[in-house]
Amino acid sequence: MSSVDFKAITLALLSASLMFSIGFARITYADESRKLEPMVSGPKTCRAHGAISPIPDEIWNRMQGVSWHADMGCPARDQLRYLRIAYLDFKQQPKMGEMIVARSVAGDVRAVFSDIFCSRNFMIEKMKLIDHFDGSDSRSMNDNNTSGFNCRLTASGNRLSEHSFGKAIDINPVQNPYVSRGTTLPVAGQPYDTLKKRTNAQQGVIRDGDVVTRAFARINWKWGGDWQYSKDYQHFSSSGR
Ligand SMILES: [Zn+2]
Repeated sequence: MSSVDFKAITLALLSASLMFSIGFARITYADESRKLEPMVSGPKTCRAHGAISPIPDEIWNRMQGVSWHADMGCPARDQLRYLRIAYLDFKQQPKMGEMIVARSVAGDVRAVFSDIFCSRNFMIEKMKLIDHFDGSDSRSMNDNNTSGFNCRLTASGNRLSEHSFGKAIDINPVQNPYVSRGTTLPVAGQPYDTLKKRTNAQQGVIRDGDVVTRAFARINWKWGGDWQYSKDYQHFSSSGR
């Protein structure tokens, strides 16, 4: 698309996110974000898109027993934040997605997705809360959904996943599957489960040194594509786990 189109879309999204922000009683920008450098790529008119707010009642109620559980040591409501995030979908159309992450990383995460959006170089198929999938990670992955918070055990079942703390994000799981001991999840990710298959740039595929890995590196998050024994190409986390 031309830069004029892009500018128009940017303005439209800015007003959309502004209108959305006004809908919340408490807007918490200032206390959330550690100061980050502005994005390095993209036109200067492109700024952070999205809003950060406390979790609205309606969403919090829906999370109960789904992505949040009273008896599992999940973070308190005030430790989490609800984000609206602009992204370009697989048809390169601008969309507003939603995501929940830890309050302590909300500003950083907004900056990451702003970098990705402004690059116009990486598309995300969809971005819905895990609650739309009844908290099921496999259903979310099968639907190629990009998501953050989900208070759940790891696949091995022996500890809480980093997603439980709102400090991990999965992006386009089909194009960026989890690969371990000959198993690829989701199964639809098999065309993308070896380095060789991932060599050429393909829509939605995360590759070393691209805008996605660089944006997360700037906030010091680690990529599951760099894991030594298994690979979790969709997964970024602050702890590296
Ligand atoms: Zn993950």
